[in-house]
Amino acid sequence: MAATVLATVGTGSPASAWTNTTHSPYRFCGDCFVMFYWGLAPSGHCPATGYPHRQVGWFFMIPFGGGWTPTDQPDWRWCRNCFGLFFNGFWPDRGRCIGTNIENIPHRTGSTFPYNYVLPHDIGEPPGTQANWEFCINCFQLFFNGWAPQRGVCFAYGGPHVPDPNAFHFAIPVSSYESGRGLRDLSPGFEP
Ligand SMILES: [Zn+2]
Ligand SMILES: [Zn+2]
Ligand SMILES: [Zn+2]
Repeated sequence: MAATVLATVGTGSPASAWTNTTHSPYRFCGDCFVMFYWGLAPSGHCPATGYPHRQVGWFFMIPFGGGWTPTDQPDWRWCRNCFGLFFNGFWPDRGRCIGTNIENIPHRTGSTFPYNYVLPHDIGEPPGTQANWEFCINCFQLFFNGWAPQRGVCFAYGGPHVPDPNAFHFAIPVSSYESGRGLRDLSPGFEP
């Protein structure tokens, strides 16, 4: 959702259903469109620029703990190389990671944030969440697919991220919003 429509009435459970067991802050990268952990400096590695990811817009709270339900998918993990959130449920296949900028390696879990994240999906866009987050079939990361002209940059092959049309559509709990940091080279003024 855009910042101005936070109060939009959606369907499904309110975000407050998860706020007791979330890890934050995660942020959207305005260059490559993935969800990454923001709070360690520098902020990982961005395949769009070769520099750290660049936070834009919402602060996200990622639920963790628990298992499968009809609307929750576990096995999402933090990558210690790129700081992105990736799906670890197809192990040993862990997608493709920019690593240290010179590698093309699988994502790696890390003891810094060992959480087994559980992402709510196919619940619409309840108040306090942002919908249109999806799994990329190439890099296995969670990316924002809510702005049709662009799908960011995927390190797996250099083009935009590619959603699986049959995969889940995630709605991620948000807390606050930081304005004034638009997307570079894409749409000045657009802030997801
Ligand atoms: Zn990035
Ligand atoms: Zn990675
Ligand atoms: Zn990708």
